[in-house]
Amino acid sequence: MAADALEIDRIAAMACVTPERLGSVNAPAGGGGIDAAHCLRCGRTLSRDDAGAHKKFINRGASLFFCVPCLSGFLGIPEEKLREKIEYFRMSGCTLFL
Ligand SMILES: [Zn+2]
Repeated sequence: MAADALEIDRIAAMACVTPERLGSVNAPAGGGGIDAAHCLRCGRTLSRDDAGAHKKFINRGASLFFCVPCLSGFLGIPEEKLREKIEYFRMSGCTLFL
């Protein structure tokens, strides 16, 4: 439990994944256009939390995003843990989740 939280904090602190690494998991389903309103990986319509979490955990300057379930798979962190951290950041006043 504590170890998970520390690991997520470490990742959030690094908050940097290169475009090359993102590209390696970018497999657009259905050949539709990728845009900021849809998940980079699965094409699901994104919520503010999804985009905020991507910025927080992967790249603050990102303009294309993963949904939380894809982010969970990409980071190897359970989705519930990511949701907990999103709530934590929101409670802390993080503007990415307001
Ligand atoms: Zn997705």
